[in-house]
Amino acid sequence: MGLEEKLPNGILLASVEKLVNWTRKASLFPATFGLACCAIEMMTTGAPRYDLGRFGMEVFRASPRQADLMIVAGRVSQKMAPVLRQIYDQMAEPKWVLAMGVCASSGGMFNNYAVVQGVDHVVPVDMYLPGCPPRPEMLIDAILKLHAKIMEDPLTPGRAADMVGHRTELLPSSVRYSRNGVTHGLRPPSDAELAEQTARVEALRP
Ligand code: SF4
Repeated sequence: MGLEEKLPNGILLASVEKLVNWTRKASLFPATFGLACCAIEMMTTGAPRYDLGRFGMEVFRASPRQADLMIVAGRVSQKMAPVLRQIYDQMAEPKWVLAMGVCASSGGMFNNYAVVQGVDHVVPVDMYLPGCPPRPEMLIDAILKLHAKIMEDPLTPGRAADMVGHRTELLPSSVRYSRNGVTHGLRPPSDAELAEQTARVEALRP
């Protein structure tokens, strides 16, 4: 393995935190959780051509209790949100969430009452991945960035203290994203709001 050349004296010094984080990031088990078209790209990433097995995570677990990574692949409907939260709550600690694609990250082009405008309304997200759909290379890139983030995680009680008892509020997206009280589609914008919008457009003109 060439390890001998790197350790000529046979001595390796490292902090427990680094070793624990290294084992955690090298053995992430994703939960089987595909919600829409992005899931096809996620499945492709697990196939031999891209080979997630290189990172010790080729086994997508059918049980959330055996998984520590939730890849939210696709748009989350309001009806699905509580189910998603329940699966997240059942996953083993420590756990991470990757929002895959614009739909999971922000609702994407589905700006309507039926779709949660970003899965971070429901669960804490550790990594956002843009694209529609993101290619497998992009998902692998996001996973590697998440690995880097995990390597920086403080060992207990840091993350545990942050996360225990923390629940993201399940606010309807129409309320969360209403600006100045305007809930899109429920009432038209006032004259002042229209003027502000026009001024912003004018400011963008060359
Ligand atoms: S980001 Fe695009 S590919 Fe992914 S779920 Fe949304 S519409 Fe489908």
